[in-house]
Amino acid sequence: MKVIVYSTRAYDRSHLDSVNSSGAHQFTWTAERLSLKTTALARGHEAVCSFVNDPLDAPILEALAAGGIRLITLRCAGYNHVDLSAAIALGLTVANVPAYSPHAVAEHAIALLLTLNRHTHLAYNRVRRGDFTLSGLQGIDLHGKTAGLVGTGRIGTITGRILQGFGCRVLAYDPFPTQEARDAGFELVALDEVLTRSDIISLHCPLLPATKHIINASSLARLKPSALLINTSRGGLIETNAVIAALENKQLRGLGIDVYEHEAALFFEDHSATGIPDPLFARLVANENVVATGHQAFLTDDALANIASTVISSLDAFAAGHAVPFALKPRA
Ligand code: NAD
Repeated sequence: MKVIVYSTRAYDRSHLDSVNSSGAHQFTWTAERLSLKTTALARGHEAVCSFVNDPLDAPILEALAAGGIRLITLRCAGYNHVDLSAAIALGLTVANVPAYSPHAVAEHAIALLLTLNRHTHLAYNRVRRGDFTLSGLQGIDLHGKTAGLVGTGRIGTITGRILQGFGCRVLAYDPFPTQEARDAGFELVALDEVLTRSDIISLHCPLLPATKHIINASSLARLKPSALLINTSRGGLIETNAVIAALENKQLRGLGIDVYEHEAALFFEDHSATGIPDPLFARLVANENVVATGHQAFLTDDALANIASTVISSLDAFAAGHAVPFALKPRA
């Protein structure tokens, strides 16, 4: 199939090329993000391969369909950015990569937690400039503490098991808890119990109307002031203004994030020459008790290889007229 790959980075290209070594599919690579303007690049192709911040709203889907696109393969698991009903009404198939490496994301959540708790981001800079003082670097033992998960799917369950390995008691809230979460021995509780009892909270639910700003001024007021909050899921789960206020008012000890609610206009580009163009994000990361990464939790060799092989299997299935294994259906 002729496939246009939006938001291409070198690592996407090398992994997709290596799985497509037979040359069954012809790729056009573009670093451009998908937008109404860049849909013109898709003309003459049958499939689009896009990433997490490439919007797929109704006008963009209509332009793609009018240009001959029939299949959209996402290089990500989350699909809150896709108007699935519009896609289906237009006869477009949209497939995601549901589980390329839940370990990659869970391990990154733990990396953020350990950095934040032991201040290794500050220590690294101090040591490099010859400052070996320790003031302000104290953390807590994770052993014996209570960790709370919001969402016990693939990533949440692995994160909980890693935290159990540190000796944490794990509480979890999920309206549809998985068998794996029950088998892991997490204490399944209401959301408010996760908020009020946890020393560490890690968010692992999808972004849905019901979960948008699940962390807001009133939920932040329920947390222990000593709590650490981690979000590797979707930026829209946290109301940024409210979390800045909580950090500044010492209602929250620290925040570790890989995602940010307005990240689409910011992440995956180098703004270092001009400075961070988003004043809200700049204010957030000015806090030393905030550790932020730019949506890199997925970025392991293993995950990239799995993403590439799932994308190619979707293209293969569609080209052969078979059902696409991970074609998305609207949520019930
Ligand atoms: P999953 O579908 O396996 O699990 C999600 C869980 O959330 C499910 O058990 C579901 O019942 C639960 N849930 C639904 N509504 C909820 C609510 N209101 N409150 C609490 N829980 C709720 O998904 P996953 O593979 O574990 O991924 C979790 C999220 O991680 C994804 O939605 C995606 O947004 C994000 N993600 C981020 C990255 C990254 O690079 N930062 C990579 C992959 C996935």
